Amino acid sequence: EEATLQKIVAHAKEYGFVFPSSEIYDGLQAVYDYGQNGVELKNNLKQIWWKAMTMLNENVVGIDAAIFMHPLVWKASGHVDSFNDPMVDNKDSKKRYRVDHLIEAKAYEYEEQGFPDKAAALISQMNSLLEKEDFEGLGKLLQEEKIVCPVSGTSNWTEVRQFNLMFGTLLGSVADEASVIYLRPETAQGIFVNFLNVQQTGRMKIPFGIAQIGKAFRNEIVARQFIFRMREFEQMEMQFFCRPGTEMEWYEYWKEKRYKFLLALGLPAEKLRFHVHEKLAHYANAALDIEYEFPFGFKELEGIHSRTDYDLGRHQEFSKKKLQYFDDEITDKAKQRYVPYVVETSIGADRLFLAILCNAYTEEVKINAKGEETKRIFLKFHPAIAPVKVAVFPLLRKDGLPEKAREVFEQLRYDFNTIYEEKGSIGKNYTRMDLIGTPFCVTIDHQTLQDNTVTLRYRDTAEQVRLPIAELNSVIEKEVSL
Ligand code: ATP
Repeated sequence: EEATLQKIVAHAKEYGFVFPSSEIYDGLQAVYDYGQNGVELKNNLKQIWWKAMTMLNENVVGIDAAIFMHPLVWKASGHVDSFNDPMVDNKDSKKRYRVDHLIEAKAYEYEEQGFPDKAAALISQMNSLLEKEDFEGLGKLLQEEKIVCPVSGTSNWTEVRQFNLMFGTLLGSVADEASVIYLRPETAQGIFVNFLNVQQTGRMKIPFGIAQIGKAFRNEIVARQFIFRMREFEQMEMQFFCRPGTEMEWYEYWKEKRYKFLLALGLPAEKLRFHVHEKLAHYANAALDIEYEFPFGFKELEGIHSRTDYDLGRHQEFSKKKLQYFDDEITDKAKQRYVPYVVETSIGADRLFLAILCNAYTEEVKINAKGEETKRIFLKFHPAIAPVKVAVFPLLRKDGLPEKAREVFEQLRYDFNTIYEEKGSIGKNYTRMDLIGTPFCVTIDHQTLQDNTVTLRYRDTAEQVRLPIAELNSVIEKEVSL
């Protein structure tokens, strides 16, 4: 059965993956907290990405840049002038909305009512208006479609205007109005401004890459779809610096590499597709998204962009520092010094988390021995990313079984995230582990005391095998590696 978004959201909360931020105060829109299992899953995803990027590529190194940056960075990057979205205010509720989100919500309503053609027509009309930056047309569309404000229920809108998506704050003295700085809306700029530092101190030879994981902030006015679009989120980006003219090779290279990475995490090929951008930003010479089929349709998961020398060139212009590379492998002296071209890969850690969670959610219906339907829910994470890898249970809380089980727990916990549980029935404990996606359960029974063997239960098949305690670590180790 297909997992719906509501089921995923409810499951994520009930089993300690994702909570609404400040929930006891009724939450904060588009902001979420990761719980005890969510943080483990997210950390695993980040670690695997980090290793895949840095350890497994000889010529990619990492950095961790600050969230605050010099205000000119965002002038140079273009974010101050063009990182905008068309918005409207509702005159009655005084609330502000992103126009595209209001229209998308209406299209969704049409779809729910059984008019998919109407929904598609509305979206395509919106896209063409957005492309032309026809704000008057967007305003008219809101009126024609009688799109109402989710809070006031009225369609009493102001005209459509552009608003910047960056969060501004004040550095130092609050009284000094001149010192507005921004929370970074992407991590990439921290890499561009450190290009020379890394290249020179690391004696990096082109082509090479710089990878980074970090928070980014965007004032998404109406954010929906759970952690798909948040105001505070985490990006995993890599900028690959190469010789001009070689960028298309590297674009193809990273496209393949990133696609294989997503497959290796367990996302199925039929739920992934490439969406090649036909309309490119003026500085890009190629761009595509890797899309995943979320319960609400195919949506961008990762972007691969060939950005030419635009970013370094702009920083060169604004900082007045030469951001060039001397390529001693080029014999033509006139071409030895150049501003490198950049191919970037950019994926949201939270979006990847959501894709992984949606894909893992499984409802299995079986007929039991009595002929009744039974339903089992489990999260079929690849063992490498599962929050908890192993759970250890004594069959009974007596006869020395708990003591023996704790010994096994001690043997496992230094290698794997392991939990020990002696309360509750084995069946209930298995169910709990299924619900958080624990791939292995180890049960200690009376036979264990005689021959030092235990049962190992596999989550996806619910199959159990008997094996010696001495073999447990190596058997599990094999399964939890990618
Ligand atoms: P979208 O069109 O979905 O807003 P975008 O094209 O603006 O995304 P980029 O600026 O290319 O996205 O950001 C790179 C990646 O960062 C995206 O592919 C996505 O995984 C992630 N991302 C961007 N915005 C958000 C957000 N508000 N919440 C969570 N993840 C995000």
